[in-house]
Amino acid sequence: MDFELPEEHLAFRDVVRRWVDNEVPKEWARKLEADEHNYPFELWDKFSEVGFHGIGISEEYGGQGGDVLMQMVLARELARSLGGLAWIWGITSFAGSKSIGIYGSAEQKKKFLPQIAAGELRAAIAFTEPAGGTDLLGAMGTTAERVDGGWKINGEKIWSSSAHVADYLLLIARSDKNAEKKHQGLTLFWVPTNTPGIKITPLAKLGMRSMGSCSIHLEDVFVPAELVLGEPHKAWYMLLPTLNNERIMVGAFCLGVLDGVLEDALDYVKQRKAFGGIIGRFQSLQHYIADIATMQKTTELMLNFCADKQARGENVGVEANMLKLIASENANKAADMGIQILGGMGYSAETDMQRYWRDSRLWRIGPITNEMVRNGIAESLGLPRSF
Ligand SMILES: Cc1cc2nc3c(=O)[nH]c(=O)nc-3n(C[C@H](O)[C@H](O)[C@H](O)COP(=O)(O)OP(=O)(O)OC[C@H]3O[C@@H](n4cnc5c(N)ncnc54)[C@H](O)[C@@H]3O)c2cc1C
Repeated sequence: MDFELPEEHLAFRDVVRRWVDNEVPKEWARKLEADEHNYPFELWDKFSEVGFHGIGISEEYGGQGGDVLMQMVLARELARSLGGLAWIWGITSFAGSKSIGIYGSAEQKKKFLPQIAAGELRAAIAFTEPAGGTDLLGAMGTTAERVDGGWKINGEKIWSSSAHVADYLLLIARSDKNAEKKHQGLTLFWVPTNTPGIKITPLAKLGMRSMGSCSIHLEDVFVPAELVLGEPHKAWYMLLPTLNNERIMVGAFCLGVLDGVLEDALDYVKQRKAFGGIIGRFQSLQHYIADIATMQKTTELMLNFCADKQARGENVGVEANMLKLIASENANKAADMGIQILGGMGYSAETDMQRYWRDSRLWRIGPITNEMVRNGIAESLGLPRSF
């Protein structure tokens, strides 16, 4: 039993940590995030320059390679400073390199992966619909109809993060109205955002502000047959195996937030004074710090366990659900304690605790709600499906 990362990954972690401290420090991230309606292109460009968009893409396609452990290390280190803005890297990595890399044809890989690796192509995920994200399949009203040379898509999507600055949408639509079951008859499309008939509108929200999350209206949008990913009508069967990877990445982002919260809380209690000494001598604050450190360690152990199992090709379905659950609840609870430790400064836009809290609040809801995650865990214990 070895709970430590391999040497190669530890070395990568050190390089990324130095890069983060020099290039994307917390003060800078705070300013970017506060600028609610402006997408941080500078951040995207910094990722391009250092080659992070190519992590997870094989060298054959211009990428840097890197297994799930490497992606986990990168996600954690980025989130320590960037909080939710780490998704600026994560969305295209997940929607773009994973989807094309896993379901794409040889031509699609050859065309799109080098562009993604070079930071020349941004993607967004357009799955959720206004009628519901948890019951995604039951609520899905977006349709794709076969037409000459391709498909015609009509419908509405919501919460598609960074869609307003994306070149392509990874979009799921109902392509066979006569399918017997709701997880059948679905197709995955790679839709250019400049196609006529697409209207994208950013929405106001609590956190992850400058990233932009959008509603998308699709009216008679033509998508050529060569931009279907994988086999038509089989999208759900293709997507299911990738969900564990997504949960592991969310776990890594949450752990990054826990790292950021702990170091900021420790710094603060060592220099802030009350009643003639530093506030770090008060037992109640020491207990908060001890709780945050314990949440950090348990999240780290669970994350390393899941990522290692996934990298070895083993089934990690239930544990990845458990990881997503504890990581998001720990990160958000720790950020809340962090605000308390900093007192009024924790509520101030001049420190990062409020940003960590707002950003990590999302991970209890998306990409899957913690209620739904708990449903899955309970079912794995033999209990009947409750919905
Ligand atoms: C900032 C932000 C960014 C996002 N980015 C993206 C993105 O890039 N792409 C994308 O496709 N989506 C994105 N999402 C959508 C996200 O994945 C959904 O919000 C999430 O899946 C929940 O769906 P919903 O909001 O429709 O809530 P609902 O499904 O309406 O759920 C409402 C409540 O009912 C509960 N509930 C529903 N069914 C059950 C059940 N069976 N048992 C117990 N409780 C249940 C839920 O847990 C929740 O508490 C984003 C959302 C936000 C807020």
